[in-house]
Amino acid sequence: TQFTDLGLAAPILKALAGEGYERPTPIQAAAIPHVMAGRDLLGIAQTGTGKTAAFALPMLHRLAAAKRPAPRNASRALILSPTRELASQIGESFRTYGRHLGFRVAVVFGGVGHRPQEEALARGVDILVATPGRLIDHLDSRVLTLDRTEIFVLDEADQMLDMGFIHSIRKIVPRLPKARQSLFFSATMPKEIGALAGELLTDPAEVAV
Ligand code: AMP
Repeated sequence: TQFTDLGLAAPILKALAGEGYERPTPIQAAAIPHVMAGRDLLGIAQTGTGKTAAFALPMLHRLAAAKRPAPRNASRALILSPTRELASQIGESFRTYGRHLGFRVAVVFGGVGHRPQEEALARGVDILVATPGRLIDHLDSRVLTLDRTEIFVLDEADQMLDMGFIHSIRKIVPRLPKARQSLFFSATMPKEIGALAGELLTDPAEVAV
């Protein structure tokens, strides 16, 4: 498979060429068509497999295909990540792959001031990458609502469980619209994670690498 075979929009293909990516990794080849088709996805994959682009590329494609202004105090897409390092990396990936699309990307995590994050959220963003605790702060202070979220990603679900974030996730998910696309990634699938995936996903395509 080549990236051009996947039907990704030209500005995304241009960004990939600029990065020197020659062809999709196995998880990208398997996951991208499902996500582009609007399906929910359960992905069993480790970091280093190209997992981030496996969700970021088709998400950018779908957001661009239904382009609308970034909603104020909201985001069109939400990616939950267990750590600030991973959240920052995911944000950078969206900026890189989306560089010719003009989307607003924000990354929010704890341990830094609330104010700059609040200003970005108030203006509205297309893509929000967040750690669970700080996301809940922004929901509680009403600077952010999740009711405009079109695509939701839970990344590194097993690490979320290990870090004690399951309670936070269970608080966040009910605030998402029922009609949404959800993508769920985990390196392992212990019982509790399988149960969470079952609650979050509707008729998911499954991809394992
Ligand atoms: P990830 O598994 O998402 O952490 O990605 C691992 C690394 O692989 C990152 O540095 C990406 O920039 C790189 N990468 C992802 N997809 C491709 C690809 N199709 N071709 C070359 N490098 C890639």
